[in-house]
Amino acid sequence: MNLKKYQKKRDFKKTNEPKGEKSIKNNQIFVIQKHNSTHLHYDLRIQIQGVLKSWAIPKKPSKIGTKRLAIQTEDHPLEYANFEGEISEGYGKGKVEIWDKGIYKNLKDKSMKKCFAEGKIEIELKGNKLNGNFALIQTNIGENKKNWLFFKTK
Ligand code: MN
Repeated sequence: MNLKKYQKKRDFKKTNEPKGEKSIKNNQIFVIQKHNSTHLHYDLRIQIQGVLKSWAIPKKPSKIGTKRLAIQTEDHPLEYANFEGEISEGYGKGKVEIWDKGIYKNLKDKSMKKCFAEGKIEIELKGNKLNGNFALIQTNIGENKKNWLFFKTK
């Protein structure tokens, strides 16, 4: 787990977010947290190699295939998938609630780690709101490698 950046940004005496010390043996989970911060956004997180790889989506994820900008943010601990509440201090101040949660299946023959590194993730989501095949593709929008696109493929 590499959660140094996540932990460094937070004072855990002041925030009720998980520290990321425990490891949870859940398999292949994804979660989307509606985060009513300075700007309302949706935090997509998918489990890859013991952490939640994370993206902030400025607009509500589309169930029908509209492409959404997804800006990669720092890895979060697995426990974060269960987190709901008010972040009171520092980074990301505002209310967090789970918008969708479930499991996913990797649709490619490569490992998720490799798909992530290559910037081309294709997964089947089994959630309450999002169901079916979705892609997360790294782009060069604004020449920023943190910019990905998230959309339903069929
Ligand atoms: Mn957020």
